[in-house]
Amino acid sequence: MNILFAVPEATPFAKTGGLADVAGALPSALAERGHRVHLFLPLYREIQEQGLKLNEITTVTVPLGTTQVSGSIIKVSSGHPNLSISLIRQDDFFDRPFLYGPPEKEYPDNGIRFIFFCRAILEAVAALDLEIDIYHAHDWQTALIPVYLKTLYKDRPRYQGGSLFTIHNLGYQGIQDKKLMPITGLGWEEFTFERLEFFDRLNLLKGGLVYADALNTVSRAYSREILQAEFGFGLEPVLQQRRKDLYGILNGVDYQEWNPADDPFISNHFRLGRMTGKKSCKKKLTAAFNLPDKNRLPLIGMVSRLVTQKGFDLILPLLKKVNEFRAQFIFLGTGEPEIEEGLTSLAHQHPTQIAFRRGYDNRLAHLIEAGADIFLMPSHYEPCGLNQMYSLRYGTVPLVRAVGGLDDSITSFDRENLSGNGFKFSAYTTAALEEALNEALQLYQEPRLWNKLRQNGMRNDFSWSQSAVKYEELYEKIKKSVSK
Ligand code: ADP
Repeated sequence: MNILFAVPEATPFAKTGGLADVAGALPSALAERGHRVHLFLPLYREIQEQGLKLNEITTVTVPLGTTQVSGSIIKVSSGHPNLSISLIRQDDFFDRPFLYGPPEKEYPDNGIRFIFFCRAILEAVAALDLEIDIYHAHDWQTALIPVYLKTLYKDRPRYQGGSLFTIHNLGYQGIQDKKLMPITGLGWEEFTFERLEFFDRLNLLKGGLVYADALNTVSRAYSREILQAEFGFGLEPVLQQRRKDLYGILNGVDYQEWNPADDPFISNHFRLGRMTGKKSCKKKLTAAFNLPDKNRLPLIGMVSRLVTQKGFDLILPLLKKVNEFRAQFIFLGTGEPEIEEGLTSLAHQHPTQIAFRRGYDNRLAHLIEAGADIFLMPSHYEPCGLNQMYSLRYGTVPLVRAVGGLDDSITSFDRENLSGNGFKFSAYTTAALEEALNEALQLYQEPRLWNKLRQNGMRNDFSWSQSAVKYEELYEKIKKSVSK
């Protein structure tokens, strides 16, 4: 099949979250299975600074309201003959210090930037003479692609492929002022409650939900949760209407990048059966965060965007009484100022027990996975979550809330039959988190059981090859339904 993969971020080029990991791994897994995959991504400043060989292939011109904006299509090497990577260059839009804007402040023209991106991709399909079977769009930034396929481009023979829209996080919908409608090139007949209108504003994500041939989220549990008001962010009625076309496919892990046996970001490697390297990683981790080395105390780590979604309104109150727990805590992340300030002040008050590094640092993220004993993910909602699956491979036991992909990938340890790979709690309360933490700290004191729990997790296999097969099946289904 010929698959077009449209994403606003992808490793190793540009990343703010899990979508980039998916976009870095799934296209390769599909290419490996014999499909021809065309990945499209904006050429951000941080990609320009990577010293890649950028080959300009062609240019495209996109109407944005009454003006025409041109961009170039730049090819970079993908390392796989079936995978082509095209970067869309439009320096006024993408040559900026951030992908979407500084933390907690979106660029005011994000709507226009990504309307351009969607149109430019569709124009590139013609300019590059591509025949596409499946247009796979991801998140609000590319949600107009399925809309355009069913409106402005619907009568053009080249654009008869089917479309899949993947929701990586329903909390981000790309809601814009309705004055952007003319910029999209769509008629005002699209600005209705049944289509792109949302409380008198233009909701780009909603367009993807309404128009794509099929929809999916990144776990089974999340695909059901978003049908309810608690997790639907106001779009649950739309999702309920599309229920029969809504699927859930758990993300995979790129074990080439996340493997403690040869991870280039850690200097002491380890694997199942040879775990001494993990102890050295723990020492290096506490040293890197200026915590006293208390090897016997469990070390609890967290790498995360610092947003309420990730459960910080449970964590901060818990940390206030950190001296009741015999454990040390390490946090890495950036995000909402109140959370950053909360963690900074707690680390200041409890310098032997809590450490916080503000920032985005892939090397430290790997070291935390390798050196911590427990990985914390008490999310309010979690479409998939990747760190809990990375943790399993690194023998770091996930402690998670039973939502979304966390619920799908983690099972509570059972002392009786020694099954399970982590700790899980349900109620979104600090008390429930505390109870699960106490259970974990208690089990940590029983090395035989702890080792068994760790081994269970290290044996789990969440590789992309399995998820890629599920995507392939879904693509086939869409292809069949559109050719009817
Ligand atoms: P989300 O997409 O909601 O941010 P995921 O768990 O799906 O959450 O993916 C987050 C990804 O981003 C993981 O690969 C994680 O390691 C990485 N990440 C998040 N914050 C940081 C950070 N401060 N430094 C390095 N990596 C980070």
